[in-house]
Amino acid sequence: MEELNPKKLDKNKMDADLSDSKKPAINFIREIIDKDLVTNKYNQKVHTRFPPEPNGYLHIGHAKSICLNFGIAIDYNGQCNLRFDDTNPSKEEIEYVNSIQEDVHWLGFDWEDRLFYASDYFERLYNCAVQLIKDGKAFVCDLTADQLREYRGTLTEAGKNSPYRNRSIEENLTRFEKMKNGDFPDGTHTLRAKIDMASPNLNMRDPVIYRILKVPHHRTGDTWYIYPMYDFAHGISDAYEGITHSICTLEFEDHRPLYDWFLNELNFKHHPQQIEFARLNLTYTVMSKRKLLQLVEEKIVDGWDDPRMPTISGLRRRGYSPESIRNFCDRIGVAKRENVIDVALLEHSIREDLNKKAQRVMGVLRPMKVVIINYPEHQTEELEAVNNPEDPSMGSRKVIFSRELYIEKDDFKEDPPKKYFRLSPGNEVRLRYGYIIKYVDAIKDASGEIIEVHCTYDPETKSGSAQSQRKVKGTIHWVSANNNISSEVRLYDRLFNTEIPEGKGKDFRENLNPKSLEILSDCKLEMFLKDTKPGETFQFERQGYFCLDKHSSNKNLVFNRTVALRDSWTKIENQK
Ligand code: ATP
Ligand code: MG
Repeated sequence: MEELNPKKLDKNKMDADLSDSKKPAINFIREIIDKDLVTNKYNQKVHTRFPPEPNGYLHIGHAKSICLNFGIAIDYNGQCNLRFDDTNPSKEEIEYVNSIQEDVHWLGFDWEDRLFYASDYFERLYNCAVQLIKDGKAFVCDLTADQLREYRGTLTEAGKNSPYRNRSIEENLTRFEKMKNGDFPDGTHTLRAKIDMASPNLNMRDPVIYRILKVPHHRTGDTWYIYPMYDFAHGISDAYEGITHSICTLEFEDHRPLYDWFLNELNFKHHPQQIEFARLNLTYTVMSKRKLLQLVEEKIVDGWDDPRMPTISGLRRRGYSPESIRNFCDRIGVAKRENVIDVALLEHSIREDLNKKAQRVMGVLRPMKVVIINYPEHQTEELEAVNNPEDPSMGSRKVIFSRELYIEKDDFKEDPPKKYFRLSPGNEVRLRYGYIIKYVDAIKDASGEIIEVHCTYDPETKSGSAQSQRKVKGTIHWVSANNNISSEVRLYDRLFNTEIPEGKGKDFRENLNPKSLEILSDCKLEMFLKDTKPGETFQFERQGYFCLDKHSSNKNLVFNRTVALRDSWTKIENQK
């Protein structure tokens, strides 16, 4: 723990390095849009969409996509739709649909009346597939999944035509209808586009566009036995909605020819432009929904909104603000090449935000009693405490001073190391907003552990008073022993202890940080916190930023540590 030293952060340096985040940075996507506006490609329209699959909670990577899509719509006076890509009913749930809407709104974005589902288009998509069959551009294939893989070929070897590729249009129509009616079991038939089994692009080798899945859908129930593949549904849904720029992550670059093929072959007049950007990767974080689900299902974390999760709901519960996440997304920008962002930058963004906004309080996390033996037994007094030194308009509050106090165990050492400026024999220390105190004696229990420290105070040293001239090197926080509230405090740390916890041949669970959660049960906090509402954040001086947990109750108060005070990002920047 450090002494109070507000000058530690080099603010000028910080502002210069992390330049103005208000103006949208020019990026290659905006350049494409600007060009399209000049050539009038889309009749001066800019219309984007955010298309989550409701198979998990949104995470910070999705936040990047949300900020990008909704941000572009706002800046260009355009629109952004929210569209659920709900084409795989076996993994999708209504719980996810609801949480996704809540999270997008919480981030500060609004789709107005443009909430759509790919499933809204199931009938129309089916008709598009029938059209392709009629045009001789799709066929029903009886190969099994294994056979499909075998026939597909590899990057270096062309694939083989399916033996069913030349079925007549009539036979294809009849069989596709049977697929629709549920006459075939799962996995026995697919509808495939007829493109080119020798294409160097594997996505163009007669890709599957419909599969049989006898699974009820969370919206369409038992209506459908067949479901469209993502590649087929996505571009067509974009076209139906009049999307102009369909922004997705890099792994879809090789799918773009297929995206364009469907729209061209089906003669869509409106043809959205797919643009790919690099997904967000963060150090010390796993971002794959499949792995996040595993963490939840194996109870490695306490649900999708566990404050250690990189989910938006986890970050919210941890005390992150929407502004801090939006600023973070602005700062990292949009790139065309894969990269990994230092998680310290995300932590910096919330520190910077809360530094400006958070009410300061004192909270003792590991309490040890101090008795001021020359302070009258039943006397108390109110001391003036600043609410936020960054924002004088937040004013001040009163804290109660008394003979018995708590300080951090760590802030007293009988045998201090060099440069220890806190309380120790022979060393005075200032109590924040209060007086300078001096060590007299330490009371120990039978095992020799210190349970109480006796001190004297110097009445001439009251903070802010005219006669207070004396300076000491250290200032520590404290809480009155009979005017405080007890609380549980959860100290969260990174969930993983390696920079890149996932990857080929690695089991990400082997890299879990065993110290990612420390629970402190009897912390003593300033009375000021007694009416706190869940989600409110504070700076506990010298300790970090803390947020009242959503499951906290009057009987069992729980604060989550959002982030510690030390800013490793600023440190890294300053070393450059
Ligand atoms: P899945 O593997 O389930 O498809 P996904 O991460 O692609 O997972 P989606 O729900 O399909 O999840 O994503 C919705 C949108 O968010 C997509 O446009 C996707 O490109 C974007 N997105 C997902 N992950 C990231 C990320 N890490 N960085 C930026 N954008 C992302
Ligand atoms: Mg996806």
